[in-house]
Amino acid sequence: MLRRFRLEEPETVKDASALLARYGEASRIYAGGTELLLAMKEGLIQYERLINVKKIPGLDRVELENGVVRIGALTTHRSLENDPLLRQQLPAFGQMERNIANVRVREMGTLGGNLCFAEPHADPGTLLMVLGAKLMAEKTSSKREIAAEQFFVDAYETCLEPDELLTEIRIPSTPRRAGVAYLKFGYLERPSVGLGLFLAWNGADTITEARVAVGCAGPKPRRVEESEGLLKGKTSKEASALLGRAGEIAGRAADAISDLHGAADYKQHIVGVLLKRAFQQILQDRSSKA
Ligand SMILES: Cc1cc2nc3c(=O)[nH]c(=O)nc-3n(C[C@H](O)[C@H](O)[C@H](O)COP(=O)(O)OP(=O)(O)OC[C@H]3O[C@@H](n4cnc5c(N)ncnc54)[C@H](O)[C@@H]3O)c2cc1C
Repeated sequence: MLRRFRLEEPETVKDASALLARYGEASRIYAGGTELLLAMKEGLIQYERLINVKKIPGLDRVELENGVVRIGALTTHRSLENDPLLRQQLPAFGQMERNIANVRVREMGTLGGNLCFAEPHADPGTLLMVLGAKLMAEKTSSKREIAAEQFFVDAYETCLEPDELLTEIRIPSTPRRAGVAYLKFGYLERPSVGLGLFLAWNGADTITEARVAVGCAGPKPRRVEESEGLLKGKTSKEASALLGRAGEIAGRAADAISDLHGAADYKQHIVGVLLKRAFQQILQDRSSKA
């Protein structure tokens, strides 16, 4: 049962941060409420004061500025999956959004809420890491930019300070000779394993940049630099022959745990399978564009 709480409705980010500073651990930001209210109803967490940020204007926009897509933290999954700018600039992101949860959760749930809750079985963090995204955090007195890789500290824990809000997610547009894929596997409502891959080539078919990230299998999403190092500097054919090894490394790096979503060694294996498929998907997209 949901216990009584007070609702604050600030109209600016600074006011919301000031409320967090004033009420401390007894308060929490409330966006779509899809995670927060569920956990409160189940008695897993309790707050005396919820700070509804949905009345703060300007935090639910998607804009393109100097080659960077800027997504307000309060943008819902539903509007992201249908956003024409996102579809054009970052199709892999729109695709990932379409496959989150169910339509009811996507209608209410925000991208910011997903990232700030840091539930391990979530998709966006993994993809944002390979896209080179930056997360903007703000409080009364300051603003800072956090690389997606630095944002997640552990399961349900981010590097946000107690009075900081996530306000925006900034994603550079994907360069012309590059491709991105995000694939996931699962049999429950939330994913068991997620894998993101970004590859960029020069004109001579050499991979100039490779980014690999794994998520859902362990407590937090993470980049796998060792797998990236194997693929970088290789031609597509050479890299293809190294995918088995790159996948094994990524599987180990996922820090998989056994839970309802699958056994750790199974999840580790799936990481390798998804890496091969993501690589093939990017190559296919690339040849269909050529
Ligand atoms: C049934 C179900 C299935 C799901 N399946 C998936 C899935 O397949 N893949 C996936 O990725 N996710 C999945 N999710 C998670 C879903 O994406 C999140 O529930 C949703 O995005 C959370 O957003 P919200 O706005 O409702 O957050 P809220 O519930 O309002 O908040 C969540 C947490 O984030 C904090 N918070 C929110 N916004 C901010 C902010 N701007 N700054 C600071 N702190 C903030 C809140 O204080 C709270 O602690 C699923 C959820 C459910 C309930």
